[in-house]
Amino acid sequence: MTRTLLRGGTVFDGTGAPAAEADVVIEDGRFVEVGPGLDGDEEVDASGLTLLPGLFDCHVHVMASHVNFFKLANTPFSYRFFEAARNLAATLATGITNVRDAGGADLGIQQALEDGLIRGPRMQISVRMLSQTGGHGDCWMVSGQRMDLFPVHPGCPDGIVDGPDEMRRKVREMVRAGADVIKVATSGGVLSPRDDPRHAHFRAAELAVLVEEADAAGLPVMAHAQSSEGIKAAVRAGIRSIEHGIYLDDEAIELMLERGTYLVPTLVAPTGVIRAAQAGAAIPESSLRKAEAVIGSHRESFARAVDAGVKVAMGTDSAVTPHGDNLDELVLMHEGGMKPEEVLVATTLSAARLMGVDHELGSIEPGKRADVVLVSGDPFDLATLKERITAVYMDGRKVV
Ligand SMILES: [Zn+2]
Repeated sequence: MTRTLLRGGTVFDGTGAPAAEADVVIEDGRFVEVGPGLDGDEEVDASGLTLLPGLFDCHVHVMASHVNFFKLANTPFSYRFFEAARNLAATLATGITNVRDAGGADLGIQQALEDGLIRGPRMQISVRMLSQTGGHGDCWMVSGQRMDLFPVHPGCPDGIVDGPDEMRRKVREMVRAGADVIKVATSGGVLSPRDDPRHAHFRAAELAVLVEEADAAGLPVMAHAQSSEGIKAAVRAGIRSIEHGIYLDDEAIELMLERGTYLVPTLVAPTGVIRAAQAGAAIPESSLRKAEAVIGSHRESFARAVDAGVKVAMGTDSAVTPHGDNLDELVLMHEGGMKPEEVLVATTLSAARLMGVDHELGSIEPGKRADVVLVSGDPFDLATLKERITAVYMDGRKVV
């Protein structure tokens, strides 16, 4: 077995331990040793570089490349899959070796990645977000037309559901379609035309069935949740992560701490909507107004959650912002009160814990799969991190 030695670098292992000079030995796709003065058969000179664990993004939509609705309506159906391949490659190039798709990606894309037909990070899928009629996943426009962000197709069934009985069936449909995590919208959102981010969606009885069915299939649930009541209902129902968390009140933060719920902030997303509109994308006027209205509360909620000690895992909502620009989120997390070291833990081991893969991934520790990002210069200068990535390894193989 070949021992690959990454020699003379500084290791930030992702556990929160301070960065320290160390050699790293990889064998058969896994880290086998981390420490000073190691040897190996093949040597990679890592002097002057920092080794980070492969990064995570817990909220992407690889099946969309932008949020220009008119352009989406004029894109041939299968073209979207080729765009997904490009988006995944761009994500990997930025050091992200694991993503959680928050809606749109199906089992075929996941299998194509696993089989090496396309290049990209490992991917957990939610298939499609469950939403009530008129909710965040309901793309019904006032014209009577539907403008689905993600077309309904055999691999990605419709997600509109009302009432506990239908909920049971819909969760089972998503499980059948290959979901690794069930996604639900417990509040309105920004990009959907006819809902309000401040309203709670689904009632407790519907969410109880949702979590019960997901549990039975051994799957966690992630909730698009922006309104205070929608967030609290999700946490009380036992949902594992709050996505966006725009209107977090004290009670919501208290509940999240009590239940160990993760926050996946996606701070870059509202800005992404506004930027896209400014660049001429056809975005409904109502969505643009909502994006402008939520930014302040979003950042303020995040800062309070961090201050209170809520668990945070990095997620961007990429698609709303360009794939490959994922690390822009790290800067906003830092501005919201996290130390750069904490931001990197939220982007590695903490994210791996949320995704239930921390026994295999998320840190540079012997026994784990050898995903490594090599960066030159200061690893804690988050704003320029992306430009300084010199190599990315997955399972011990150089992929970028
Ligand atoms: Zn999203």
